[in-house]
Amino acid sequence: MDFALSEEQKMFRAMFEDFSTNEIAPVAEALDHEERPPTEILEKAARQGFLGATLPEEHLGADLDFVSYALLMEALGRDCLSVAVSLGTHVSLVAMSILRHGSEAQKEAYLGMLAAGGGSGPGVRLGAFGLTEPDAGSDTSRLQTRAGADGEHYVIDGVKTWVANGEMAGLLLVFAEAPGGMTAFVVPVDTDGVTVGYREPTLGLRNVPFNTVYLEGCRVPAANRLGEEGEGREIADAAGQRMAVALGAAALGLVEDSLEVAARFATERVQFGGPIAEKQAIQNLVAESAIEAEALRYLVYHGAWRLDQAGGLGSQGSVVKAFAARVARQVTNRMVQVMGGYGYMEDYPLARKYRDARALGLIGGATELHLVRIAERVFEGWDVEIAP
Ligand SMILES: Cc1cc2nc3c(=O)[nH]c(=O)nc-3n(C[C@H](O)[C@H](O)[C@H](O)COP(=O)(O)OP(=O)(O)OC[C@H]3O[C@@H](n4cnc5c(N)ncnc54)[C@H](O)[C@@H]3O)c2cc1C
Repeated sequence: MDFALSEEQKMFRAMFEDFSTNEIAPVAEALDHEERPPTEILEKAARQGFLGATLPEEHLGADLDFVSYALLMEALGRDCLSVAVSLGTHVSLVAMSILRHGSEAQKEAYLGMLAAGGGSGPGVRLGAFGLTEPDAGSDTSRLQTRAGADGEHYVIDGVKTWVANGEMAGLLLVFAEAPGGMTAFVVPVDTDGVTVGYREPTLGLRNVPFNTVYLEGCRVPAANRLGEEGEGREIADAAGQRMAVALGAAALGLVEDSLEVAARFATERVQFGGPIAEKQAIQNLVAESAIEAEALRYLVYHGAWRLDQAGGLGSQGSVVKAFAARVARQVTNRMVQVMGGYGYMEDYPLARKYRDARALGLIGGATELHLVRIAERVFEGWDVEIAP
C-alpha cells in the first residue's frame, strides 16, 4: 500500500495552500460577519482553473484527479468552509454530473462555461443542485416537482429548497418526477419560469447563499435531460458520493486549522503560572483531536483514491461523510474549550469554525441517513430488513 502523494500532487497542494492563505484567510472573517458571498475569491478561483478542477482540458478544466481535488478542498476548508462548500457543490455535484452522465452536446454546451464561472447573470456564476424540497428532505423518493413531457420539451413545476449557490447560480441541476421516474435536468437559471427566491439566514456557512428556487411552467428542451428518464436516482447517488469525499476533505482542512489555532493559543495563554498547554486536561483535548484528524485524513484520501480508480464508492461514501461530520463537530467543540472564553468570541476564528462545522451533519444528507446505508452493508446477507 502506498499512501504517498505524487510529486505533482505535492506541487498542487502547495499551490492550493498558497491560494487559500493569500486570497481567503485575510478576508474570511469579514466576509462571514457581512454574510456576503465570496464573489471576488470565486472569480480568482475561476482564473486559477479551480472551478473546472476535475474537468478535462478540452472543456477548459484543470484535469485534476480526485485526490488532487480533495487536496484543494482541504486547503479551502482550512480557511473558509463556505468557499469549499460553494466550490464542492459546483464541481462535485453539478459539473461532474454533466461530465459523467451528459451527452457530448451537453458537455460542449455547459462544461467550459462552468469551468470559466460563466452563465447568465452578472459576475461569477456557479452550478447549483436542486434536489431537496419542502416536503422531501431525507426522503427524496417523495419529490413533488414534476416534469411533464410536451413534444420535444419538458415543462417543470415545483419548489427546491436549500439550494446552495442559489443566487450565484448560472446553471441548475434539477431533479423532478418525469413520466419514466425521477430524472435530472440541466436548467439555465435564465430560463422562463425560474425564480431564485428567499435566501435562508443560517447558523454557519454564512457566505454560501442558500436559496429557495421556484420552477413554474419552466419549459426546457428534451435535450436538457441528463441521462434517461428514471436515471435521476443513480445520478444523485453518484453525485452524493463525490460530495461526501469533497466535504470530508473540507472538514479535514477545517479540523487541522482549528487544532493548530487552539494549540498555538494554548502555548501562549498563561494561567496558574504557566502556559495552559502544560495542563494534561488541555493536552488530552488536543491529542484526542489529533487522533481523529489523522483517521479522517486516511479515510478521505482513500475515498478520493477509490473515486479515481473505480469512479464510485458505494456505502463507503457514507462512512467518510458521517465520520467527517462527527470529527468536525467534536474537534471544533473541543478547541472552543481549549481557548476558553476567547473560543466563544466572534473576534477569534474558532467561533466561525464551530458554527460552520455544524452544517456537515446535514448538508450532503443527514448523518442518520448515512448510518442507515452503513447498517445496510453490515447486515447484508442477514434476514433483517434495513430501510430508512
Ligand atoms: C447547509 C445546507 C446546505 C444544503 N445544500 C443543499 C443543496 O445545495 N441542494 C439540495 O438539494 N439540498 C441541500 N441541502 C438539504 C439537505 O440535503 C437536507 O437538509 C438533508 O437531506 C435533510 O433533509 P431535511 O433538512 O428536510 O431534514 P428531514 O429529512 O426532515 O430530517 C429531520 C431529522 O430527522 C432525521 N430523519 C429523517 N428520516 C429519518 C430516518 N428514516 N431514520 C432516522 N432519522 C431520520 C434526519 O436525519 C434529521 O435529523 C442543504 C442543507 C443544509 C443544511
